[in-house]
Amino acid sequence: MTNIAQSCRICGGLELHEFSDYPSLSRVTSDCKAFPAGGRLMACLSCGAVQKPTDAAWQKEAHGIYENYQPYFQSGGVEQAVFDAAVGRPRLRSNVIIDKLAAARGLGDEGALIDVGCGNGVMLKAFAQARPGWRLNGHELSDLHLAELKAIPGFDRFYTGSLNELPGGFDVITMMHALEHFVDPREGLMALRDKLSDTGCLFVEVPNAAVTPFDLLIADHVSHFTRHHLAMVAKRAGLGVPVVADDWVTKELSMIATRSGPVATLPPMPSAREAIERVQGQLDWLHAVVAGARRAIAGGGKFGIFGSSVAAMWLFGVVGDDVSFFVDEDPSRSGAEFLGRPILPPDAVADGSIVYLTLITPVAKAVASRLQRPGVSYLMPAAA
Ligand SMILES: [Zn+2]
Repeated sequence: MTNIAQSCRICGGLELHEFSDYPSLSRVTSDCKAFPAGGRLMACLSCGAVQKPTDAAWQKEAHGIYENYQPYFQSGGVEQAVFDAAVGRPRLRSNVIIDKLAAARGLGDEGALIDVGCGNGVMLKAFAQARPGWRLNGHELSDLHLAELKAIPGFDRFYTGSLNELPGGFDVITMMHALEHFVDPREGLMALRDKLSDTGCLFVEVPNAAVTPFDLLIADHVSHFTRHHLAMVAKRAGLGVPVVADDWVTKELSMIATRSGPVATLPPMPSAREAIERVQGQLDWLHAVVAGARRAIAGGGKFGIFGSSVAAMWLFGVVGDDVSFFVDEDPSRSGAEFLGRPILPPDAVADGSIVYLTLITPVAKAVASRLQRPGVSYLMPAAA
């Protein structure tokens, strides 16, 4: 669709609100690299979906980002762990999702799966371990990681190019953090619907824009989905949506879609006006995060950033010259160096230091109460 930049890519509505203060915020890429301020952010006046126009300026930026893309750049190619409430400890995100998917859909011992946007194969590797009898396939924009993919047990074929050209009959299609990059997500979902077996399912994982202001800063994320908007675009692609959950993985949405069928019942959808107010509040909070960091730096003391997530990298891009260290609770990370700064375990932070928690408020509160100790100031950005 040539006019997709001008119309809502979720509902097709023609009128969009533009957030005028967005271009003044520094950004970050989805592979966790600082990215300059700029870009445009909009919300649909019909459905409230938050999105970036994929105009010529965006396409030029995205081309540069994807050309040098390094999945899990900040962790040496290793997928991050997420807290799994079911077992009470951190696990790899792919493993958590495969367990939930198996519980919801009953994955058999054999089948054919394709992971669209497979990157270096983190999902495929996890699936190969969980279901060794399956034939695994990958689709990606470039064949940069082909050798790594081919080494995965059960790996069958690699595909690139148009989704319409894929063979059909897949029992499971997965898209892990891919759909938010699509210029036309409805078109992509329609193409994949045709590639499912009659009883197959499409699994989509995306950030939950309702709870993660930092997602707005990711330059190559063009759709910022809520549960409603993810279900809406899937329905418009002709899919049934038995599950669209916000509690499988913290701060993420997990959708199971089928070739046909109803859409799961959701709470009432916020109005477009309410969606715009939410996003304006998120942008105000992001400006406050920067202001809070600058105030803390001006107050003196060594300044460090907690974690090495996209949000931490974003703040580093803004105030990096004043950052002395990173703090990471993951023992496999601490002790190393990142961007020329040491990564310290919490107990190695020197007295008199400030550790800035670039995290959404509920997570920041939990970390602060866990790590707070005399001599070190764990500083939370102002509450949203
Ligand atoms: Zn819309």
